[in-house]
This record gives sequence, structure tokens and C-alpha cells, in this order.
Amino acid sequence: MNKMKTLIVYLILLTFSFSIEEKFTVEIKYSSIEDLQQLVDIGIDLDHYRTSSIVHAFVSDLEFNLIANLNFQIKHIPNQSKIYFNELKNSSNYSRNPMEDYHNYIELTNFLQNIANQNPDITRLESIGQSVQGRELWVMEITDNPGINEVEPEFKYIANMHGDETVGRELSLYLIEWLVQEYGTNPRATNLINNTAIYIMPSMNPDGFELGQRYNANGTDLNRDFPDQFNDPNNSSLGREPETRAVMDWSSDHNFVLSANMHTGALVVNYPFDGPSTGIYSACPDDELFIHISLAYANEHPNMQAGGFSNGITNGAQWYAVYGGMQDWNYVWQNNFEITLEQNEVKWPNSNQLAGLWEDHREPMLTYIEEVHDGIRGIITDSINFAPLNANIDIQGIDKTILSDSENGDYYRLLKPGTYMITASSFGYLSQTEMVIVPDIGYIEQNFQLSIDPWLAEADIEDFDEGSFINFDWYFSGNADWTITNSEAFQGQYSAKSGNINANEESSLKIDLEVLEDSEISFYKKVSCESTGSISGNYYDYLSFLIDGIEVDKWAGEINWSLENFPITTGNHTIEWLFIKDGGVTSGYDSAWIDFVVFPITSTSNPDCGTGDINNDSINNILDVVSLVNCVLSNNCEDICEGDMNQDDILNVLDVVLLVNTILNN
Ligand code: ZN
Repeated sequence: MNKMKTLIVYLILLTFSFSIEEKFTVEIKYSSIEDLQQLVDIGIDLDHYRTSSIVHAFVSDLEFNLIANLNFQIKHIPNQSKIYFNELKNSSNYSRNPMEDYHNYIELTNFLQNIANQNPDITRLESIGQSVQGRELWVMEITDNPGINEVEPEFKYIANMHGDETVGRELSLYLIEWLVQEYGTNPRATNLINNTAIYIMPSMNPDGFELGQRYNANGTDLNRDFPDQFNDPNNSSLGREPETRAVMDWSSDHNFVLSANMHTGALVVNYPFDGPSTGIYSACPDDELFIHISLAYANEHPNMQAGGFSNGITNGAQWYAVYGGMQDWNYVWQNNFEITLEQNEVKWPNSNQLAGLWEDHREPMLTYIEEVHDGIRGIITDSINFAPLNANIDIQGIDKTILSDSENGDYYRLLKPGTYMITASSFGYLSQTEMVIVPDIGYIEQNFQLSIDPWLAEADIEDFDEGSFINFDWYFSGNADWTITNSEAFQGQYSAKSGNINANEESSLKIDLEVLEDSEISFYKKVSCESTGSISGNYYDYLSFLIDGIEVDKWAGEINWSLENFPITTGNHTIEWLFIKDGGVTSGYDSAWIDFVVFPITSTSNPDCGTGDINNDSINNILDVVSLVNCVLSNNCEDICEGDMNQDDILNVLDVVLLVNTILNN
């Protein structure tokens, strides 16, 4: 199958995919991983079931014909979930409810409201939004002080994002009931609730459940609707389904550390990454940890452990590629470690099996929550006033930054047992690195008290908050000038934004500096444009940073405000930020921004330094000498760089002598 043919098929599918079509279940035979990837590429909704030669999928009539035309063997198979769903509905005449032991939306709502009413001290029921058909998207918080952001890790379970995958929905209710019933008597439940903020969302897709279908009421697969690092890197909830938007916005309001989303159709734990290519292992920076926490679940479930997957776990992409899944979004954009649980091969098992399924999954589900308490944790504060800091936590050798909760300054860095170098950094502070040993069981505490960076206190800073380029001698080149914008800023109100350019154009912002000593330049950048090629790594549209016309670094894709730091040598230099577009794709906002540029030590730095006019009265006389002598004697010369006559950054008797000389020589 050649590329052109795939492209044409894809375009035809795209044309028709805007209308909601009934999809039905099929079995497709394939002979190679490339064939499977081809189905992913043309946007077929592969189901969770697959063997080495067969995969189940949901397709429309149109897709069915196209797949058949691509020389795949494809056939209709009965949709067992739908059949059972209809059976349950039809048998409802004399039974207590349409879903028998399954909780329909009204029963689910009553169940949750009853739990919340009966356990107000440890639960809080919240709706984080409404589904397409107006059903509430319920989340139950279970913790010792619900509604309060305490210094403890946040955990979440989300179930039933595929409406016809019902086991996790019921297991969620069993888990909620178990936790509140055991609280106060069972030490394990009590510890979990006292030391964890647990959030459980039994149904992300209540409409899909009521309709007996995988999709939401708009016909969208919610587990393909999230931003995706490989094919939809614009991390915005705008334009997505209401259920997706609600989960994204709610997650962003929290600092979830660990989570799982529950599916059925297979029996396995699936961990990131889910892309880019089917059949090819795609390790994320925390691969070892993900294997560890996935095994924590699978090892407690003997059938999963001994099932069709090695040890009951699989890398997502190696199984089959998913674009727009919730799992990768959580890791890539929320710094939240999420796995996908496939809890039963039958999607909608007979309700008489639910109690047994709870028995099988209770221990794995509890063990998995407890994983949130492993690794390194602590509080990051200012060393003087102990204010909590918005800080980054980095581990040497793992390319993944974790953020602290800015309200309390607490952070949770999940790690396997071992020895690590951990660094805390926060804007305007000196970063700090410690060696920490993570124990075999539980966590180790490592607090950080960071000191303000003294270099920053004296440096020349451009934050563009004049609303113009007036403060420094900026100049422009290329096809459009950079502009000042107040729609984006790392700090204050304004930032500098690349000019509006078209394909094969560029926009450059420059400044000439006379650097007086070897130092560094730092700035914050944000980028929103076409990503690099996922396999080739090629740059198409990007922001480039150059010193004297030589590219020092470059960035592409969706990158939120982040700090860059580069050394710069003594001498005259031209500093340049260049946004470039190639011929093809437009993506995101197609722009780059910079803010909070901290310049190296230049001739423009602190023009008052060394003038000798310590009292700023424009005359150098005996009063300045007295002030200088006093500060030298008292060792209290902060911010008095006027007296640093020899510019050696130290105020001492030499400066007094030099100041006296300038006065005498006048
Ligand atoms: Zn699913």
C-alpha cells in the first residue's frame, strides 16, 4: 500500500468524519505491524482487543468499505456489550432498574450523594461539568479534610470514558464504599484517607453508558480527544468535547501526582508513551518508574500477571498507537503519572460477576493508590521569609520536570528505590542540588530553602513592561518586526512576540551588547508552532537563539514559558531571537515569545556604579566619603554600588581612597 493511496484514503475519511455516523464492531485481519499502523494512520478506532493477527475496531460503513478496498480481511462481529445492554434494558419491566446491578446515571448520582451526605467529614461530591446531554460529571473526593489543599499528594481514578466499558465504573463505586466504610477501623483505609487526597470519577462518559456505546453523545471517542505530543500538541481545552474539557480544566486546577484510567476489553496495564508508532516500544523519560508502578498493579492480580502480556503489563505504543489519549496528556502536560488499566476482557460482563471482579481488583487498586507515597517529597520555600515557592524539581538523568504546588510549596517526585541527585530551582533563586536515597518502602523527605540570586538583584532586566521596546536599544530585521503583546507574559503584563510572518519568512529581534566580563544571558521563552518531525527530528518552524549570528539553540512545537540560560564572553556581541517558518504547515499560534531577559554585565549595567555619588545629590564631596566609610565599617553596604570606585564588587578602604582622590583632584 503506497503512501499516496493512504493519503487519498485519509482525505476521503476526513471529508466524511464531520458527520456523526453509527459505528459498528468489526474484526480485521492484519499481517504486519505496518498494516496495523496504517489503520491507526487513517484514524480507525481500534478497540482494546488484539492478537498478533486480529484486531477489533469500530468503523462506519464508509470506513468498512475503505478498509476492505485496502485488501484487509474485515468482517462484522456482534457487539456483545450492546447486546447485553439491550437485554438489561428489555428485562427492566419488573426488575428494580434498567441496569439491574449496574448503576444507571440516576442510581449512580443517588449512590454518590448518599455517600457524601453520610460521610461529610471525609468526602466531598463535586460536579466538574456537564456531558453533552447535560449529565453531571461527578467526582468524589475522599480525604480527611475535603475541599482543602493540604500538604499531601493528590491521586485520581477516572473510569468509563468509553461508555460501554462498564467494569471500572462499578469498581469505582465499590472502592468509594469500601474506603468510607473502613475509615477509622481499618488502619490501611484510615492511613490512605488521612494522608492522601483521593479523587474518584466513576464515569467520564455518562451519556455513552446510557446509550450503550463507546463514544460520547457527539460520537467522539474521548480517549482520542486530548492534546497529543505527536499529532496535536496544542495544549488547550478549547474546541474539545465537553467531557474532555471538564477533565482537562479540573486537572489543571489540581496537582495530581499519580492516576489511572479504567477500561475493559483486555486484561493488562498499559503505560506511556502511547505513540508514535504501533509495535515500537516508546519509552518516556520515566520508563523505569512506569514499569514499577504498572507491576505494582499487575502483580496483585494473578490472572492479569499470568495473562497474554508479559507480566501483565505493556508499553502503550508497543501494543497499538493511540493519538489523543488521556494517559500521555497527563504525563506530558500535567506532570501526573498516569497508566491505563484494562480490567476485564468482557466489556459489559453479566452483573452477577461484579462482586467477583471487585474481589480481584480491590488489592491492585489499593496498592496502586499507595504508590503515590513512594519517592522523594518535601516543601520548597524562600530561605528568608519561608514563603512557599513555585519551583521545578529535576532528577539528574531523567528528562522530566515536576512542579511544586505553589500554594503550599510541596512536591512529590515518584521514584523507584535508589540514589538520586535532585535539584530544586525557582525563578530568581539560586538552585540547590542534593543527593537523596529513596528507600525500598515509602518516601524520603527533602525540603529546600532557596536563597535569592544576588546576581539577579543587580542585573539589567528587560521585562517589556513599559509596553514598548524603549528601555534598551532593540532593533529588528526579517519580514516582520517583533511586537509587544499583553496577551502573553511570563512576568508582569507584557512580553515580546515574533512578527506575523507567512511561509518561508522570518522575524528577528536583536540587540548589541558590550559585555564587560564573562557572564551569562538568560530569558524566558514560549513557543507555539509546528513540532519537529516525530521520527526525523527535523525542525520546520522554530525559534532560534543566536549569538553573533551563530545558532546556540532552537525550539519548536508547544512549549510553555520556560527558562533558558547561556554563557557569554567578554567583548562586543550581537544577541538575536529569530522566528523562522518553512513552506508547509501552520500549527498552534505560529509564534514565539520572550520575556524577562536578564542581560550579562554590560556597559549599560548599573550606570551609577563607581560614580562616588553615594547620596545621589549629583556632587561628590565629604558627605559621600562619610557614607562610604560608615558602610565599609558597618559591613552594611547593600545596594550601594556608587561607592565601588574600582568596580571589583567589594566596598573597602581602597574605594574610600579612590573617592577621596576624585574629590581632591576636582
Ligand atoms: Zn477503553
